[in-house]
Amino acid sequence: MERNPREDAKPEASGLTMRTFECKCCGIEINYEYKGRTPPYEPSIVFLEDGYFRRDPFADVKRPLFIGADCNVCSRPVCAQPTCSLFFTKRFCAACAKQYAEGFPLELRPDLEKLQAMPVAPATFDVDYGIRTSS
Ligand SMILES: [Zn+2]
Ligand SMILES: [Zn+2]
Repeated sequence: MERNPREDAKPEASGLTMRTFECKCCGIEINYEYKGRTPPYEPSIVFLEDGYFRRDPFADVKRPLFIGADCNVCSRPVCAQPTCSLFFTKRFCAACAKQYAEGFPLELRPDLEKLQAMPVAPATFDVDYGIRTSS
């Protein structure tokens, strides 16, 4: 299928609304269309985590771009860059991954070292992140 420029201008036409994903680690802002495990572009793909997705305008529509996901510990959205988050059975933001570094297998050490420090303090379980504003 050819890329349709009108589709880019009007994502609602596909039933998906563009929202803005903001990585809490590096601050990057990326528009996304879908959050979940089964992006509607290709029903046979099921991801291991609820991620933020958009179609890749430069690639096959069936290969959605994985932008990032919510940290499983502190619920902050973090992008998929190796400096911002790590996936080990679930998604960890840089701060939480560092906090729980002892629990990761040795093979993940190089990945842990790539993570940059978060500009915000690491979350603990008693912070108010338990209360998430519904959108
Ligand atoms: Zn990031
Ligand atoms: Zn976290």
